[in-house]
Formats: sequence, C-alpha cells, structure tokens
Amino acid sequence: MVSAATALEGNPLLPNLIEVAVPRPVWGTYTYSVPENVEPPVVGGRVRVPFGYGSAIGIVVGRPRSSNHTLKDIAKTIDPEPILPADLLSLARWVSDYYHHPLGDVLKTMLPPAARTGRPVRNEPERSWTVTDPATEPEFKNAHRQEEVWTLLRRRGWMKDSKLKDWKVDRSVLKRLHEKGLVRWEHVLPNFEPQPSSIVPTAEQQAAIDKISAGLDQFQVHALEGVTGSGKTEVYIRVIEKVLAQGKQALVLVPEIALTPQTREYFSDRFSHAAVLHSMKATVDRFEIWNRIATGENKIVIGTRSAIFTPFDDLGIIVVDEEHDASYKQGEGLRYSARDLAVYRARELGIPCVLGSATLSLETLHNVARERYDISKLSHRPGMAEMPTFRILDIRGHSLSGGMSEVLIGTIRKHLDARGQVLVLINRRGYSKSLLCTDCGWVKTCEDCDATLTYHEQPFMRLICHQCLRQYPVPDHCGDCESEELIPIGAGTQRTEETLSERFPDVPIHRVDRDVVTTQNKMEALMARLAEDGPSILVGTQMLAKGHHFPEVTLVAVLGADTGFLSADFRAPERTAQLIVQVAGRAGRAERRGEVWIQTYDPDNADLQSLVDDGYSGFAETELRLRKNAEFPPYKHLAVLRADGPDLVETEAFLKQMVDTVNLSGVEKLGPVQAPMSRISSRWRFQAMLLSDSRPRLHVALSQIDHSSAARRKIRWSIDVDPMDTS
Ligand code: ADP
Ligand code: ZN
Ligand code: ZN
Repeated sequence: MVSAATALEGNPLLPNLIEVAVPRPVWGTYTYSVPENVEPPVVGGRVRVPFGYGSAIGIVVGRPRSSNHTLKDIAKTIDPEPILPADLLSLARWVSDYYHHPLGDVLKTMLPPAARTGRPVRNEPERSWTVTDPATEPEFKNAHRQEEVWTLLRRRGWMKDSKLKDWKVDRSVLKRLHEKGLVRWEHVLPNFEPQPSSIVPTAEQQAAIDKISAGLDQFQVHALEGVTGSGKTEVYIRVIEKVLAQGKQALVLVPEIALTPQTREYFSDRFSHAAVLHSMKATVDRFEIWNRIATGENKIVIGTRSAIFTPFDDLGIIVVDEEHDASYKQGEGLRYSARDLAVYRARELGIPCVLGSATLSLETLHNVARERYDISKLSHRPGMAEMPTFRILDIRGHSLSGGMSEVLIGTIRKHLDARGQVLVLINRRGYSKSLLCTDCGWVKTCEDCDATLTYHEQPFMRLICHQCLRQYPVPDHCGDCESEELIPIGAGTQRTEETLSERFPDVPIHRVDRDVVTTQNKMEALMARLAEDGPSILVGTQMLAKGHHFPEVTLVAVLGADTGFLSADFRAPERTAQLIVQVAGRAGRAERRGEVWIQTYDPDNADLQSLVDDGYSGFAETELRLRKNAEFPPYKHLAVLRADGPDLVETEAFLKQMVDTVNLSGVEKLGPVQAPMSRISSRWRFQAMLLSDSRPRLHVALSQIDHSSAARRKIRWSIDVDPMDTS
C-alpha cells in the first residue's frame, strides 16, 4: 500500500498538469492543474484559466512533467477535440521562435476572432434551402421579411446558408418559414467535380501545369512568372483540379485588395460553390471556415494573409498569387510573412508551393537563381500585343506644375486628342524625402555608403544615411552645379489633379486613391464610367496596380519615381519597379499599344535604365547586384529593432541599451538612429538593424535581447525579422 502522496511523487508524468499559452503579449507559458470535476483537456484545445485578476482563454500546448510552483486550477475545458491540429501547433512554435514573438500572441493571431472568445466549435454541415411549393402563393400578412425571403428562394431555387448570409437573411426568419412548412432544407453534399471549361491552355500554360503537377507528392517551390493577364489563374486551377482528384485540399492566398468578387467567382465557377471558401474581411466568419476545412468538408480556401493559419485535414498545395505583394507581411504585432510561412508549411507537409506574379520578388528570383525554386514563365497574354514601350523623361532644369513638366502635359494633350485615356501614376511609396537639386538632379549621398541621404526636419534639419546611420548638416547649395535650388522631393495626388483640371477643363478627371475610392462598388462604378467616357484622365496611386484593366489607356505617366528609386528604404526601388510594371501591364489592348513615360531628375539611375531597356527582369538583375554590393537582403539576413516613445532622449537611450545587450561575432549592429519618419503622433521613433550572413547567428543575437527588462512604461518596441521596409 502506498499513500496517495507518494504515488504522485513517484509519477514522472502528472496527468493533471497542462502547459497553457495565454493570448496576451507575455513571454512564456503557464502551468495549470486540472481538477477532477473538469473534463480532461487536450493538447491543441482551448481552456478557460484564471489569469491576473480575471480569466483568459488559453490554448493547451503541452503536458509538463512537473512544476515548482503552486498551481492554479483551470476553470473549464472548452474543446473536447483539438481545434489546432499538431502541425499548426508546431507551426506556432516555429513562428514564435523565428519572429521572436510570444507564443500566446502567435496563437492569438492564428485563431479566428470568434475562437478567441471561447465560442464552441460547430461542426454542423451546411444546409441548402428552398420553398416547399413554388406553385402556391402563401398569405404573409405583415411578415414582409418572410415574404421577401420566400420570394427570393422561389426565384433562386436552392440557396445555401452561406449565400443567404450574403443576402443578410436572418436565421430566425428561416426558422419561422420552416415552422410554417413554407420552406425546407437539405444538407449540402459538396460536389468536388470540377466544371468543364472551354479554355484551352496555351503551350506555356500547359508546360507550367505539367511541371508543377509532376511533383504533387513532394515539397517544391515553383515560381510562376507571368505577365499581367497571361492566365496564371488558369494554371493554378488546372493544378488544383489534380490535387482535388487525389482527395486533397488546396490553399490559395491572394493580396488584400485582390480578394474581389471576380476572384472568388473565377474559382467557384470552376469548382462548384460548395468546394470554395473565402475568408473575406471581418464579415465572414473565419471560424466557420476553419470548422468546415478542418473536417475536410470543403476543399479549397481562398484567403488573404491570415488564411495561412487555416487548419487543413489533408492539404495538398499552397498557391500564393501576386507573391511580391507587401500585404502578405503583417506590419504590426506579429510581423509574419504569409508568403514565407507558405513555403515553410509546404516544406513541413511535403507538398508543392506555387509563387505567382508578373513581378516576382527579389527574394524569390534570388532563390530561382540559386536553383532552390524552379520557375515557369508565361510571356504573353492570350491574344494580346506586347507590353507598352517605356520612355524616360529627363526633367532636370524644367519647372513643374502639379508635379508635371510641360513636355509631359503636352504629351497628355496629344493622347487625349487622339481619343486615348491617360493614367497618371503617382508613386507615394515610402514617406521619406530626399534633398534634390532641381537644376541638375544631384542628390547628396553618404560619404561612406552608396546611399541617398534622407531629409529630416525634426527635431532640427539634417540629412541621415539610413544604411550606416551617419548624419550630415543640410547643404545650402548643390554639390555638383552650385545651384541653390535644393528641394525635398515628394508628391501629391490632389495637387496634380488640380493642375490637370486647370489645363484640361473639358476632360473628365478621376482620382483613384484610398481617400476617394473607398469601396469595391465605387471602383466598379468608376470602371463603368471609364468605358463610356472616351478621352479622360485617371490620377492615382498604387490602387491602380490591382485587379482592373484599363483597355482605353494609351499613356501611363509616372510621377515621383525618384522618391522610390532614390529612397533610403532598401526595398523602395523594388516596390517602385513592381508598381510601374503592374500598372503598365493593365493599360491598353491589342489594337492600342501604349506608352509609359517616367519623369525623372535622375535619368542615369541604373535601376531606372535597366527597367526601361530590359523590363522588370533587367531591373531585377541590376537591383540584385546593388543589394549584393550593399550587403542587404537577400544576400544578408536582416532584422530591425524599433522603439517609439514620447520622449526623444529616453526612447533613444532605451533602444541603445537594447542593442548593447546583443553581442555576437558575425552579427553587425547599426544604430540606433531616428526612423526616416522620425515622429508620428507625438512619439519619437528610433530603429536599429542587425545584419548577418548566417540566419542562425542572427537568431541567437535576437534571443540575447532581454525581454523582461524591455517592458518599460510608455515606450513601445518591436522586433521585425525580414522587414518589408525600413521606414
Ligand atoms: P493573370 O492572373 O495572369 O493576370 P488571368 O488569370 O486573370 O491573368 O487571365 C486573364 C484572362 O485570360 C482571363 O479572362 C482568363 O479567362 C483568360 N485566359 C486565361 N488562359 C486563357 C487561354 N489559354 N485562352 C484564352 N483565354 C485565357
Ligand atoms: Zn552611409
Ligand atoms: Zn545641381
């Protein structure tokens, strides 16, 4: 006979201890005990636990063997089955390590908002509704809503829960109709048979399809480089058909702005509605999507960034469309890249990953060059003319109105007279300004680096090199031609629009930026107007690069390209080239080959010249060479530490202390220095960089940062691994 106490001591694995990650920005996990009257929790399931002065919903991440602390009991077990399968839990741990972010907060990012509140999992299959007897005309008296819904159902035949939700039909209305016997439902039996299609793949499409489908049972990253409109989607669909035929599932990631009804319909037309699910904005319940996908009831998820965290029953392929798009990287909190996680997840699962774009990221092209990724190319649009011609417009010594030179305004007039439409693209990428001589185009560069200096006004005027962080006084004359006409360059949509309407009072002018085109409907309305307008001008920002084609546009005028090509942010040239090429690819049609004019003070810029001479691939080659010489990604691994606070001196000292704790050979430290945008909402912003040849060494360096001492009042700080920008 042994007493209960010794039995417990002798047991190396206490069955009633669990390790819980709590979705709060705290480091570490917590051990709790499970009292006998609570249902036993499972790893990957949610529990309610006492936390601080209240309680929290946590995820069970393990079963510890012992604990030195006095433990609290959990309050409740929420999930009898894991809601996070093992592969997602291990993904969470990897993400936490890689991005140096607390596990609890990683799990919070992964979980759909509805799951964070402790709502139970619903595994009810979807229903489809119809009227019981379409021939009758039931009496509805004052139940107008019921009458509307009944009439809708009679007109449409069958409608699924999800579709009814789109029509804002309340369950209570359906319930009442059902009680009256006026409607009936059946469970939806998903049909995974692809719909026949009349599209015959081109030889290039077929080659890409064959190459990717040849290795469906192994990890391989396939880059798919296809000019705008070349039919990348058709390639994705044909490959996904094969994945589905093996009984597996597919994940398609799209950039935020590209998740339009057209994208969704493109897929649902081909795979029947049942198989396709999309997580669109907050209106759609991501949790429901989780439930249906985890059980294998649905086969395809189309979603934005966070869809990379969807649990699958049997995932067979991941497609990342427009993989270069910056929206794949989360800019705050957990700064993860969904594109990079797609590659990681595919590797873990041993499945292919397709990265598609007209303008592949330099990271991806670098991996292609190293033969880590394989590549397929779609070089033309089915039935389309070649890409438009590019021209550099040298504006040194020219005076500008609304950001445009007289030569450009004349060209705009010519195209309008020829009944073409004109698109004026204003590059607003990057907030930073550089100081420029308007007479000769000179910009001051760092004496130690090949980098353009950034102009800072606060707290006093000076120039900073954001590569080596050296500071300079603001010069009062040009270093080349002695002119005193030095200005900080930037651009503005509104001023350009004003000037254009003065010069072309009879021509319709449409502004396309986030301030004006706020909804998808407004964009559709604009497109409809453009089709009827005849000669007109569009003035806009990067919004013009997504989704829509502008068949009547014969001239694309690019303003502010210099802010991108000469920016302090090392990624700005890449983004700018992508923007220009994406917009150019959306202009014109077969009979009307377009022109692209790029205004510049710096016509000899290597990036710009290679873009104009050899297109995006020429640009990419040049820019990769520059990155290599500057020792920047993808040739070095980079992390940015940022801190912001109300007090300049304190914030800088804080970040300096943090950087000082890092000490490792092979890891270069730069900074801290003020961020290019040095003050936002009365908070001073500082940043520092860690660079290394070796990814593991960079991670060791980052883990030297003391998180506990970092928690200081009023100062916020973050680690950004593989940053998308350094501004
Ligand atoms: P991308 O994503 O590469 O910009 P899309 O996939 O949107 O291009 O395709 C552009 C258009 O070309 C679509 O309307 C599509 O239906 C059509 N298309 C794709 N492949 C073919 C083909 N082989 N033959 C004819 N039309 C095609
Ligand atoms: Zn420098
Ligand atoms: Zn000059």
